[in-house]
Amino acid sequence: NKIESDLQEELIQVKTSLSSIQSELQSLLQRQENLQERKSQLESEINRRVSSSSSQLDGEQDWSSEDFPWSKTLRSTLNSTFHMNDFRPKQLEVINASMSGRDVILIMSTGGGKSLTYQLPAILAKGITVVVSPLVSLMEDQLLGLRNLGIEARSLNASSTKEEVKHVHQSMTSQSPSFRLLYVTPEKISKSKRFMAQLEKCYKAGNLSRIAIDEVHCASQWGNDFRPDYKILGILKRQFPNTPIIGLTATSTDKVTLDTKKILNTPFALVFKTALNRSNLFYQVREKALSHDDVIADMVELINTNFSRDAGIVYCFSRKNCSEVSSSLNKRGIKSAVYHAQLEPIEKSRVHQMWTDNSIQVICATIAFGMGIDKPNVRFVIHHSLSKSVENYYQESGRAGRDGLPALCLIYFGFADVFKQSTMVMTERTGLDNLNQMVQYCLDLKSCRRNLISTYFGENWDSITCNEMCDTCAGMYEHSNIDVTSACQSLLSTIRLAEQKGEGNRLTGAKVVEAAAGRGKNKTLELKKFSASEVQRMIMHMMFKEFLREDFHFTPYSTISYLVPGPMASALTS
Ligand code: ADP
Ligand code: MG
Ligand code: ZN
Repeated sequence: NKIESDLQEELIQVKTSLSSIQSELQSLLQRQENLQERKSQLESEINRRVSSSSSQLDGEQDWSSEDFPWSKTLRSTLNSTFHMNDFRPKQLEVINASMSGRDVILIMSTGGGKSLTYQLPAILAKGITVVVSPLVSLMEDQLLGLRNLGIEARSLNASSTKEEVKHVHQSMTSQSPSFRLLYVTPEKISKSKRFMAQLEKCYKAGNLSRIAIDEVHCASQWGNDFRPDYKILGILKRQFPNTPIIGLTATSTDKVTLDTKKILNTPFALVFKTALNRSNLFYQVREKALSHDDVIADMVELINTNFSRDAGIVYCFSRKNCSEVSSSLNKRGIKSAVYHAQLEPIEKSRVHQMWTDNSIQVICATIAFGMGIDKPNVRFVIHHSLSKSVENYYQESGRAGRDGLPALCLIYFGFADVFKQSTMVMTERTGLDNLNQMVQYCLDLKSCRRNLISTYFGENWDSITCNEMCDTCAGMYEHSNIDVTSACQSLLSTIRLAEQKGEGNRLTGAKVVEAAAGRGKNKTLELKKFSASEVQRMIMHMMFKEFLREDFHFTPYSTISYLVPGPMASALTS
């Protein structure tokens, strides 16, 4: 009947639809699978490129070639405008990569010649190169240098006049800009909407030829100099995707570099790195005398004997230390001045200026004195107390000998300073680990200092000889092996005993040394034969090996570090 056949017919239709949906589903599933596969392929390729050293992947490309369309002009401009005879290591590679439109990160030690890698392309480009630089004093130095070479450059900062700003803004969109380089602070990018709008116009007009970011490691929180304003710089690649970015830094571990790429939105940036080794620097560690006057006497003798007319830096732990050291040096006829973060900007540049023109010999500084110091003839960098990490030390000591001539990098290594530092850095994520490495560097009387530094940075300097340019290679220490197990056990039991007596009796590092020396009640025979300085070395070694650890106690005014048995203590007891 009619109804039945209608039903039959609909059933057939439904079945057909279902089967066509089935086959559509099939093909969609197939497509999904294909896309999934492609997705993971792409992801792993991206990961591979991002994480592996990009220079390997671009191995086919020879960045040092001189067959690029610009190669001839490049060389002639190097000679005629910059009055330089040849490129230094990595300069040509970096310039070629950047001029090919690639994003680049250049890690090159201080004084290596990073500026040329964006200044030279800036001359050849038709538009303008924006240089992001963290310090106004740095910019002024650069502007002066460029002006002397007859290169037009401008800067925008808080003290720019209205007319200057107006002129710069006009030029940014003009067919023939009146300058090649524009220096700005990172704050300009993060805070000035007006400037960003102008940059946008500059880009649209095809005038934004390159963006250079100096001290680019400031973008990463993993580095030493994190600056919040740098974090925003990722906006540049997003807004101006076709403008190559070149980031420059003197120190960057692999971790910091990777992080920097992420923050700048330049995952495919090529990384170029020159060897970290500074062959003209003599590295030395000296045991620090206990009294301030003895340390100063040693320092004064060192300076008067070897550097009577040479400029140097003495890095100190705190503002107070800076003042103490500086006034002691002045009393003994060595002209010095203090530099730290709390100085008024005017005073800072006055001190810097006096030092630059040699009217003072020594700057006593906290680590606030650093970035942008490009005095070439610094003959010594003395650390009145150890740095908080090897990375910091490399950077601070690296301000010596930028002219390539011999210079001294000396640390006065004192036991008490270790705990001054530890109570400061304990709040930082990797603070204590970093400090530990620094202490190991100072404790070591056998290994080449260059080797210790290269190992820290994960580099292999085997092929580089030290040429006896460090205290250990120069044979300045005698050492012999003795078994100190029982002495260390005795130190440990002294500490345990004190701990058992209760909270209030715990021992600081200094108190442990005192107890070991036999003052107080805790005389121990095993320790009697060792000097205080030997006991100190044992304690630091035990901390490194985790036989001991620091236990921090907060008071309203300070942090105290007590020594307590560490996770490995039982290994020493049994
Ligand atoms: P960085 O920024 O890497 O610390 P700079 O760019 O300030 O170093 O350069 C340090 C010094 O080296 C400057 O005086 C510069 O003129 C000089 N310099 C750079 N490249 C060369 C080169 N190829 N030949 C000679 N001198 C150079
Ligand atoms: Mg520089
Ligand atoms: Zn050595």
